[in-house]
Amino acid sequence: MDETTDIIVIGGGMVGLASALALRERGLDVVLCDPGEARARTSYGNAGVVSRGSILPMASPALWSKLPAYLRNADRALRLDYAHLPQILPYLTHFLARARESRWREAAAALLPLTSAAYAAHERLAAKAGTTDRLARTGWIKAYRTEEAFAGAALERDILERHGVAFELLDGDALREREPALVRRYARAMLLTETGSVREPGRLIEACEALFAQAGGRRVRGSVGRLAPEAGGWAIGHDGGTLRAKQVVLAAGAASGTLAKSLGYRLALAAERGYHRHYALHPDSPPLTCPVLDTGAASIIAPMGPDRVRVLSGVELNARHAAPDHSQIEAASREAAETLRLGGPLDNEPWLGSRPSTPDGMPVIGRAPRHDGLIFAFGHGHIGLSTGPITGEIVADLATGRSPSVPITPFAPQRLMGLPRLI
Ligand SMILES: Cc1cc2nc3c(=O)[nH]c(=O)nc-3n(C[C@H](O)[C@H](O)[C@H](O)COP(=O)(O)OP(=O)(O)OC[C@H]3O[C@@H](n4cnc5c(N)ncnc54)[C@H](O)[C@@H]3O)c2cc1C
Repeated sequence: MDETTDIIVIGGGMVGLASALALRERGLDVVLCDPGEARARTSYGNAGVVSRGSILPMASPALWSKLPAYLRNADRALRLDYAHLPQILPYLTHFLARARESRWREAAAALLPLTSAAYAAHERLAAKAGTTDRLARTGWIKAYRTEEAFAGAALERDILERHGVAFELLDGDALREREPALVRRYARAMLLTETGSVREPGRLIEACEALFAQAGGRRVRGSVGRLAPEAGGWAIGHDGGTLRAKQVVLAAGAASGTLAKSLGYRLALAAERGYHRHYALHPDSPPLTCPVLDTGAASIIAPMGPDRVRVLSGVELNARHAAPDHSQIEAASREAAETLRLGGPLDNEPWLGSRPSTPDGMPVIGRAPRHDGLIFAFGHGHIGLSTGPITGEIVADLATGRSPSVPITPFAPQRLMGLPRLI
């Protein structure tokens, strides 16, 4: 089918759908092109955390002391598939160059306006999509098993404090009182009070799809293979035909790098793969009231209802389509069984998705430097569910010639082209 429209959005995850909805609201004729497989979206399977405090990228200064363990695949936070190393060398080079305190602080300052706007954007979206019952200011807990682990996070607390991100510190007893479902003994915890969470993010995505259709948006089921600039716009080739539009939004999550590369943009990006598995809570367990990061297990446990939780793994650096390796989610599940009173797994196989990641932990949002009418909206890494809705609003601003409500200069793609900046 060949169609012509004002704007085509490539990718129907949180970022693409939020963009498509915001563009439709501005009166544009929008076509969203996505293969339509719900579980293929990383937006389906995440922990649902929406936190103003999500301003601290993975490339932290603490990385250097952990690097020997990471390189031996001896820390559950990271598994690196060495066969994939040549492909991700540009990403890793940029990543290591960022792992310094000055850069960490710089990224935090750049991300703060985006994360600060995230919860309100989620509220606006949930009100329109009819999903307000799935969004709540639950708070979010980072739990430390030892005093040393807590002391190791002092710089993180300093940065959050400087940016006015609210948190409370709890000792082991106070944590047990706040979250009686936790049976593991922790030394300390940080409770980020302003944080909210989305229960079953996949349901939010479904509701956004329905809202987009109601609003007169058009969906094309297909995978885009070709982006071709032509006079006055773009021709977008997908497996069912060609779409034509004046503008295009590239929001294909972890697949965006390959599509951008076809236009000559070689960006240092990686798919940070992650897994989840659902477990029933034991009938005698109190419900878990908010997501918990067990820093000792490098894994998150998030409530998906009063009687079940989602256990999520750390990072696996591997090709997006490589066969799954369940070692991290199995380890996370074993740890979770000592953290909560769990029943059996609720799904046969763990879910696998790819965080669309940049080495500096900041998304790529902005106009493509060398092509008119092309907007980049990808690379949201660990914070794309939370910052997807506000990104959609920014994309709509860019497409309609307004200045974005959030400063986006730090998110320009140029920073990920070529060699990293070392000073
Ligand atoms: C274990 C885990 C836990 C996480 N926890 C959180 C959290 O608590 N909070 C948070 O904010 N974030 C979290 N994230 C990150 C978050 O899930 C992602 O940043 C976010 O989902 C990215 O959204 P997206 O729309 O860019 O990509 P996706 O949701 O992956 O959507 C991309 C879409 O593009 C489509 N696509 C791909 N190629 C093409 C093509 N060629 N043509 C057309 N369409 C295409 C895909 O099929 C897909 O539908 C987590 C991620 C993981 C893995």
